[in-house]
Amino acid sequence: MYSRTDTDEMQQAAAMLGQARRVLVITGAGMSADSGLPTYRGVGGLYDRELTADGISIEQALSGDTFERDPGLSWKYIAEIERACRGARPNDGHRALAAMARRFERFCVLTQNVDGFHQSAGSRDVIEMHGAIHRLKCTRCHWRTAVEDYARIDTLPPACPDCGAVVRPDVVLFGEVLPDRAVARYDQALGEGFDLVMIVGTSAVFPYIAAPVQQAAMQRRATLEINPQRTDISDYCDVCLQTGAAATLVALEQALQAAA
Ligand code: ZN
Repeated sequence: MYSRTDTDEMQQAAAMLGQARRVLVITGAGMSADSGLPTYRGVGGLYDRELTADGISIEQALSGDTFERDPGLSWKYIAEIERACRGARPNDGHRALAAMARRFERFCVLTQNVDGFHQSAGSRDVIEMHGAIHRLKCTRCHWRTAVEDYARIDTLPPACPDCGAVVRPDVVLFGEVLPDRAVARYDQALGEGFDLVMIVGTSAVFPYIAAPVQQAAMQRRATLEINPQRTDISDYCDVCLQTGAAATLVALEQALQAAA
């Protein structure tokens, strides 16, 4: 499966995890790629071209400004993405993370993904930095609900059953600020400290993701990256496994079991 060097790096990664007690895992789109979930731009090839059918980029269609001005337009693309992802399930990588979490004093998963897969695979300590697509909330009152999918939404944009205002998915649209609660939980977790930071399947290196990795590297704490391609933070990582997320996390979980 792995070349000689890859095997050495796998062993090194497993040894690092074996010594850690408090782990921060940061996951992105690559984590869910093995569930068949592409990134926004790639969803089912829907947005391979520069512009959507409405003549704007997908980032513009899914921006907070557009939602405010023309929620129906944003909803058209939100619903299209949800439909393309419908039926996808957590993969072995999500399950491997949930399984290995039990070995650690703290095992916090910070995810950029909005699919809810870490929780459905059994992870408990999850911070959803970009929200969750299967939660809906009113833009005016406090009405909220959880939905399995959007199949029952027949009018776009959907209206709040309590006050009639526009309902939106509880996700961070482009140009919007990160949710206070998630940021506060993340700050608190960082304050409590981690002795290993592992980054999985994300090349979108926002400052809030790069900073803890760089900080951990400066403080000589362990850093591990699992990404098919090198990223801006690869240079800060002790070990970079240039592989897909699911198979690698399964292999790491097995290595931890074997060492126990
Ligand atoms: Zn309402």
